[in-house]
Amino acid sequence: MISDARKIEINQFAQDIVDLYTWEKFIEPETLLKNNRVKVIYDKYDSDFEGLTICRNNKFFVHINTKYIPKNSLRSRFTIAHEAGHFFIPEHNKELQHSYHPSKFKPNENNLIEQEANYFASALLMPENQFREFCNGKKFSLEVVEQISKRFGVSKVAVLLRFIEIGNYPLMIAFCQNKKLNWLVRSNDFPYSGAYKSKYGKELPENSVVGEYFRLENAKYTGIERVMADDWFYLNSDMIDKELNEQCFYSNYGYVISMVWPD
Ligand SMILES: [Zn+2]
Repeated sequence: MISDARKIEINQFAQDIVDLYTWEKFIEPETLLKNNRVKVIYDKYDSDFEGLTICRNNKFFVHINTKYIPKNSLRSRFTIAHEAGHFFIPEHNKELQHSYHPSKFKPNENNLIEQEANYFASALLMPENQFREFCNGKKFSLEVVEQISKRFGVSKVAVLLRFIEIGNYPLMIAFCQNKKLNWLVRSNDFPYSGAYKSKYGKELPENSVVGEYFRLENAKYTGIERVMADDWFYLNSDMIDKELNEQCFYSNYGYVISMVWPD
């Protein structure tokens, strides 16, 4: 896990890089790399990486594997921003001078170098100042997530992970697939810190909105639903009547993300 101090450092570092340039709409990681004499090459490689940064004779090259990453897509923006992390973060850059490692995005990444590059990518594409300014005064909902996604040119999953870090509202997100909980993350200010009623790789709480979706047919709720905090968490008896909002979005790739937040 990246320490809080390191997160602050990477956030500021990405913000400083963004602030060096004027951006018409989105921050363009490819332009940023070009301005720093890094060549971005798209090709269909037969190996298992999405992005790869190589240093040869002191020149850096970013390879994007179009087998997994379509050119000019939200994913290519994120992958390039991730590789930009390896280039810009001094410790990563130093490492690249004598080795390289292929990168492939996993939302629950556990390799620290990859976590840092993902964190950098997210901080670069959604710089803290601009992100906070955009969220200011908006009440959390899927609609806001979609607005942020359009404003910054990033996926909804990327928005949610950024929101957990620096959003203006307590939030928990559960990433679910095949009727099971894959992983779950909550912001530091989320009001319930008790144990979850589900575990990774296990079935979802049956009365949660996402739990009902997997358990019952035709229970694909897309609006904001009210659930009991007790549906998601083991709570003391004095907290048992507390309610939460839950809203899901259903991806085309078979996974469902449940967003849970208090009033
Ligand atoms: Zn990487």
